[in-house]
Amino acid sequence: MRVRLQARTFSLALSGVVAAAVLSSPFTAAAAPVKKVLVVGMDGLNWAKVVSANAPNLDALAAGGSLGESLLYCPSVAASSSGPGWSTIATGVWPDKHGVKDNSFAGKQYATYPDFLTRLERVNPAYRTYSAVDWAVLHSQGTFSSSIDTRVTYDGDRDGYVVSDEKITADTVRNLRDGNPDASFVYLGNTDVVAHASGTGAPYAAAIEKQDAQLGQLLGAVKARPTYANEDWLVVVATDHGHNNPGGGHGGCGVSDERRTFVLAKGSGIAAGARPVDTRLADVSATVFNHLGVAADPAWKLDSKPVSVRSRDAFDSLYGSLSARVDETGIPATVKGWTHTAPAGWSVDRSRMPSGGVTEWRGWSFTTDEFWTRAQASQERENAMRTRGVFAVADSDEFADKTGGTSFDSTLVSPAYPVTAGGGVTLNYVTHYLQEGSQTGDVSVSFNGGADQLVKRYSADARAKAESLPVTVPAGATSMVVKFRYHNANNNWYWAIDDLRVG
Ligand SMILES: [Zn+2]
Repeated sequence: MRVRLQARTFSLALSGVVAAAVLSSPFTAAAAPVKKVLVVGMDGLNWAKVVSANAPNLDALAAGGSLGESLLYCPSVAASSSGPGWSTIATGVWPDKHGVKDNSFAGKQYATYPDFLTRLERVNPAYRTYSAVDWAVLHSQGTFSSSIDTRVTYDGDRDGYVVSDEKITADTVRNLRDGNPDASFVYLGNTDVVAHASGTGAPYAAAIEKQDAQLGQLLGAVKARPTYANEDWLVVVATDHGHNNPGGGHGGCGVSDERRTFVLAKGSGIAAGARPVDTRLADVSATVFNHLGVAADPAWKLDSKPVSVRSRDAFDSLYGSLSARVDETGIPATVKGWTHTAPAGWSVDRSRMPSGGVTEWRGWSFTTDEFWTRAQASQERENAMRTRGVFAVADSDEFADKTGGTSFDSTLVSPAYPVTAGGGVTLNYVTHYLQEGSQTGDVSVSFNGGADQLVKRYSADARAKAESLPVTVPAGATSMVVKFRYHNANNNWYWAIDDLRVG
């Protein structure tokens, strides 16, 4: 990969004749397929409605690639609206970094967190980048910036989205044929317009089918390229938000459907038919960089990981053994999303928990975004957006919704990690802690079964935070256990933990 980029950089600096000689030389990367990327954004697309529609192109991508469904944040972090959604897709970070909380774009931080095409231009200006949108603010606000080589803007409100989507498709087909783009972002918006106008019924299905046919034209243009045999294409389809069913609409913290998103990706290194539980909407950019062989700089502070890379989080291994509700009443019986059974090596101390209260939350539990947030919407549970798949929750608020659900005191205990005496380790994990009353969250470590040593005490909000805590390993220690104790809680808020890594 690096060889190819160097060859192309040189080619720009040399005359056309010499450049052609360099590119055709057997000593350059002529044999390596040229990596290319096409990202197609479809506004307000509910995947469940794709499944029930006649959408052969989307179906084929899902069969041959990875489909990761997840739920969005919502207020107070950001509305489940297009401005924050496309900003998350473009930048690979969540709204608390990119700053876009609604469609006003007030507070945008694109200078610090630019879109993935702009990142590519900064890594190597020789990348040929292209974006085409008919929601014009995505260009005028800089969601996809002026650093992109070619930006095509239609005004959907003026032309009507169906017409604009056709123009965008035609322009992108032309560019795929004549412009030799390396990375493109193409926005199709009619699905959102139709869902707002008439809900998620038959007209919406028709809009999905029309957009699927447009996707088919784009994929056809890719395959028709004379150089296609020596190219390696990543195709990504993602949506910025869902729609309420069946009425349509989005923007808030409604039960789930307006928060529902997906990242669909097909390309080399991505398993056919993969259905990862740890894919999030922010993962588009890292997936693009990974395909192109671009190392994401830690200074970019991405919340993004490639869809082909699995989280090493032990909690996710519980996904297939999660149960349906017991005492919770608002969660549909079809949603399986909790267990008290810890993954291998982990344990939960429930000995100080009372016998009453809501069964699901009696001590630390392992749960999903879907299950936990449907227990009670609009209480900031939705905003634990840095968790992925299955995570651990201690929730004194939900526990107290049944008689006897008082005095929450439970400890989540990690496996024993090998450590080197006299050295240092770092506890990395994701935390989402909301403070109320006298509740306390204590993180402690124990070396070789010795006394607990407090590392961190939570007594104020720590929302959707990636923690990195240094710990000194004492002389003689060979192993360390990490404990998360949530206590002094009596119908207060909650604490979520995910992705503990000891480095
Ligand atoms: Zn909309």
